[in-house]
Amino acid sequence: MLKNEEGKFIINTYNRQPDFTPLIIKGKGTLVWDEKGKAYLDFVGGLAVNALGHAPPSVIEAAWEQMNKVIHTSNLYYSEPQIKLARCLVENSPADRVFFCNSGAEANEAAIKLARKYSKLYLGSGKFEIITALNSFHGRTLATVTATGQEKFQKGFEPLLPGFRYARFNDLDSFRAQLNDSTCAIMIEPVQGEGGVHVATVDFMVGLRRLCDENGILLIFDEVQCGTGRTGKFLACEHYGVQPDIFTLAKALGGGFPIGAMLCREKVASGFSPGDHASTFGGNPVACAAALAVMQEILQEGFLDNVITKGNYFQDKLRLLKEKFPGVIVEIRGKGLIIGVELKEKGSAVQRSCQEKGLLVNCIGDRVLRFLPPLNVSREEIDEALEVLSRSLEEVFSGE
Ligand SMILES: *Cc1c(COP(=O)(O)O)cnc(C)c1O
Repeated sequence: MLKNEEGKFIINTYNRQPDFTPLIIKGKGTLVWDEKGKAYLDFVGGLAVNALGHAPPSVIEAAWEQMNKVIHTSNLYYSEPQIKLARCLVENSPADRVFFCNSGAEANEAAIKLARKYSKLYLGSGKFEIITALNSFHGRTLATVTATGQEKFQKGFEPLLPGFRYARFNDLDSFRAQLNDSTCAIMIEPVQGEGGVHVATVDFMVGLRRLCDENGILLIFDEVQCGTGRTGKFLACEHYGVQPDIFTLAKALGGGFPIGAMLCREKVASGFSPGDHASTFGGNPVACAAALAVMQEILQEGFLDNVITKGNYFQDKLRLLKEKFPGVIVEIRGKGLIIGVELKEKGSAVQRSCQEKGLLVNCIGDRVLRFLPPLNVSREEIDEALEVLSRSLEEVFSGE
């Protein structure tokens, strides 16, 4: 069996288990099929990547058309899809300019480098520290894993990068307390994904913007997971009426193709000059063509409103489930179609049970189930997922 060879040839970083982890052969919409032909409702969605579901026709068509023209050119030359995508992103966000890369970590890495370079040029020497939130997730490169406020991702990779401080999410005083003469930026996720689906409060977001303005420092939003329509707005920060100086996108942007983007205001962009930063694959024509197709789809009239409606529907139904299983579901959190269900315990067991019954859901730690269905998921599919979840909770917690 091919699956058994994974443990022999691939470095063991993902904890997949041949007797349990499906090998996914194909997908269509919200459904995927494994090697035995078993179908699953996919509410993991490639970890917030497959925003339009599997095999999205518009993305396939755009990528296919571009592949037949040119697959890669390097950034020595102009690229048609890259310029078109950049224009679309700028026209639909607070940003004036874009830097393209290939992943979330790389986008955040670019944001960190730009914040440092900009500060040297405009804020004076000695300003390089970035304050991030505890429980955040910003990526796995050395700089972004240092920015990530969770020790479990950092352990063993010391010495970490100098210049990071941590403060409590949704606690403005905690951020204020970390501010000092060396601070050049604050970086947060408006909705913490990997940290267990925690939504920023309006007061916190507005307060951070004011704190940054008062101190002449940059506000960076990591929208890698919560951006690109996931919360029912193109950017999660739109819910708050708060604009960042720099923000990052990745995950859903390419509809499954790897692409990342770091976007910023004109003045901030001037921190970078030719030669300061680069990426060989960054802004790859096929990935950009795919991303443009994703953008065109999610910006269609009513699409994002529908994400909010379906997210509310999903959360309302989960609240009914919370009443049905008192004490088992501790809290339901989320915005749009990023939803966390915190259980009192046994998250992995519930995840396992759901999978056996044909529902893929992600479990963070051992207590938080994270739902990231495609943005075009149907109500019927949400109902079906809820029905499986209900049966799984019954199974795992019966007799308690
Ligand atoms: C996933 C994620 C990243 C890292 O993205 P990669 O593409 O895995 O490098 C960074 N920030 C947030 C908020 C994420 O959810």
